[in-house]
Amino acid sequence: MIPFNNLIESISVQQEITSAIADVIKSGKYILGEQVTSFEEEFASYCGVSECVGVGNGLDAIKLLLLAYDIGPGDEVILPANTYIATVLAVIHAGCTPIFVEPEIDSFTIDPEAIMQHLTSRTKAILPVHLYGCLADMNAINDISKKNNLLVIEDAAQAHGASIKTRKAGALGNAAAFSFYPTKNLGGCGDGGAITTNDHDLAEKIRMYRNYGYREKNNSILLGHNSRLDELQAAILRIKLKYLDKNNTVRRNIAKHYCDTIQNDKIILPDFHSERHVYHLYVVRTACRCRFIEYLDSRGIETAIHYPIPPHLQPSLIKYQDLHLPITEKIHEEVVSLPCHPSLTSDQIEYIVEVVNDYA
Ligand SMILES: *Cc1c(COP(=O)(O)O)cnc(C)c1O
Repeated sequence: MIPFNNLIESISVQQEITSAIADVIKSGKYILGEQVTSFEEEFASYCGVSECVGVGNGLDAIKLLLLAYDIGPGDEVILPANTYIATVLAVIHAGCTPIFVEPEIDSFTIDPEAIMQHLTSRTKAILPVHLYGCLADMNAINDISKKNNLLVIEDAAQAHGASIKTRKAGALGNAAAFSFYPTKNLGGCGDGGAITTNDHDLAEKIRMYRNYGYREKNNSILLGHNSRLDELQAAILRIKLKYLDKNNTVRRNIAKHYCDTIQNDKIILPDFHSERHVYHLYVVRTACRCRFIEYLDSRGIETAIHYPIPPHLQPSLIKYQDLHLPITEKIHEEVVSLPCHPSLTSDQIEYIVEVVNDYA
């Protein structure tokens, strides 16, 4: 079976990680120590921003950003309806109202034209998601935000390293949220997240919000949370960050190969993008999804669905179930993700292409 994903690193990277973990254990410092500080500096510099703040996970990164911006009850936040549920839950947990906007079916990212139709006097922020690793149309989104005096918060949880010209995900709006969940392009061996920004005051506020609102020890000046990146994850992420660009290039080469060589009228391929896309996922569309998945399975190829149910049709979000979101619903009925990860061999990639091309 060709696995959909493989999170086991090469022996040499495993050894680097094991030795970094041993160093943290020997240091006796496990929370908010020098590994977190160093990772924050290195990741800020990688993204091309002045500030990075490590937090507990990607959902908290979004939630703490909204809190720090004082966006809350009564305020509307515009987001793509076809995102992963964490984006929506973060907005709701911050007390804001999520406004579900349709994506463009070709890029799967939020449609700027559709954003315009949902602006109200209560709109405070746009939260574009770089879904599957593809940057949203940030030029158009930043234009809308400037004209309407809105904040732009990137959900960059799937797009570490994606760029337009020389600017990277994490540096394309007012602030950005990242997740380091193990499957992400930059993932730890557990949960983790971060925010990036060029706004020093905002970063300082998040540093307080992640740690009980402490300005200094035992002096809580904000109703803070407990959401910190830990030293072990930071030490691991510092190693993984060194290999991020190389792994993104491998993912992009696999995607390019699929785009160039898969030819089957039953399968709609994503457009190929170079720097704009880091192929966290390679997602195709097909009308009879179950049949396609079963066919690939019977030929030894594991696939996945991102995502089978859109947020507004989840039981926890039942109050949004009557929204009219035909593009989002069509996407969720048709998408299938093919294996696209750095540990695939060329033989496996060729085999996947062959099998998909033979699908009738
Ligand atoms: C993974 C993910 C998140 C949430 O990250 P966690 O670390 O799992 O909380 C948010 N948004 C998107 C688009 C994601 O893919």
